[in-house]
Amino acid sequence: MDKKRTAVIGIDGAPYRLMNDLSDKDVMPNFKELQKNGSFFKMQSSIPELSSVSWSSIITGNNPGIHGIFGFTDFIEGTYSLCFPNFLNLKSKAFWQRDSRKYIIINVPSTYPAQEINGFLVSGFVALDLDKAVYPSRFVSTLKKLGYRIDVDAQKGHESKPLFLKDLFETHKNRIKTYRYFWDKAGIDWDVFMFVFTGSDRLGHFLWDAYEDPNHEYHSEFLRYFELIDEEIGYIKSKLREDDALIMLSDHGMESVKTNVNINRYLTEEGFCSLDKDPKKNYNNVREGTKAFALDPARIYLHKKGRFPRGHIKTNEEVKLKEELIDSFSRLKMNGMPVIKKIFDKEEIYHGSYVEKAPDLILLPNSGFNLKGSVFKKEIFDKDIFTGKHTQEDAFLYVRGEADLPDSLNVEHVMNLIIGRDSN
Ligand SMILES: [Zn+2]
Repeated sequence: MDKKRTAVIGIDGAPYRLMNDLSDKDVMPNFKELQKNGSFFKMQSSIPELSSVSWSSIITGNNPGIHGIFGFTDFIEGTYSLCFPNFLNLKSKAFWQRDSRKYIIINVPSTYPAQEINGFLVSGFVALDLDKAVYPSRFVSTLKKLGYRIDVDAQKGHESKPLFLKDLFETHKNRIKTYRYFWDKAGIDWDVFMFVFTGSDRLGHFLWDAYEDPNHEYHSEFLRYFELIDEEIGYIKSKLREDDALIMLSDHGMESVKTNVNINRYLTEEGFCSLDKDPKKNYNNVREGTKAFALDPARIYLHKKGRFPRGHIKTNEEVKLKEELIDSFSRLKMNGMPVIKKIFDKEEIYHGSYVEKAPDLILLPNSGFNLKGSVFKKEIFDKDIFTGKHTQEDAFLYVRGEADLPDSLNVEHVMNLIIGRDSN
């Protein structure tokens, strides 16, 4: 008898709303077909709603207080210098590191550099060097032959939309070739096959307006990309055996940007933060006397004594300072619209040995407000080239067949679905 297998398809940055909409409009007919005999849920992303945090929660089943990834950046302990946490900094094990089954893992973000796996892994973004992104390394030449690329060249999105779209579709095409090869031609008799589309997130950031507006010059290109994803959903569906499980999911949602909101600028105007203006120094610009500052997207750090070199906030001053910050953020408005929907204390949302490393407060914005942690902005509100931004409450999860899941489903709940069946 054939063994039961699990296929997992990730679509980075694809909101529940969009999946529903494109299924209704027959842009994604294969997904529509699957919806009829499966369970389709809205899912909460991580907090903050970033790919690095969210995928780390998905693959470990843990919250950031346990897996230790709180963003794309973090502070090197005891300094204002930034580091970029990677797979080596993940403090709990990914599901493929927990048992002896065979795994194929393709393009899952935040899995760089590649580590030993029983099967095959190629890291997703941010992966700097293909040679270090592949395990076992004998497959590097295979990937090169397949024309595999780790990521879309986002620089092209800044230069020209046609060049960006060309690169997006090419990267997609080569990724498809690669996953199809590993599905049944690489000689790996896998138990779990996980594959993530990440061009969807890039497309969403640069051209969300093209999705929302049917008259936009790139509307059909936007839809075309999701048609191509749907073709692969159809391909995988046709390749699955009857008993195989199928899971699809996203790490966070996406929506239109109304405005960027520069949190450090607001903290400066409210008297919490004072910064030098040396472009080479980044967070080393934080002056003595600063009470709090933000790291992207909206992670607030109290300027604590002992934690930062010029920090002066004592433990017994923290509660009052947090109250002042919460009060201040509740007054942050644009044209009368409140910017902040919710403010979380780290103790409220994180648990585990690494909560101490977490930011002290994390802001969740109201719809359309894109919170930013940049140090050098002169205005609180501004815009840039991006028309799409992440959402926290609008990720999706699809499971073929009946699925019994908690009402307030979040990304930490997914891992057990992936490995929880017949895993001995
Ligand atoms: Zn994104």
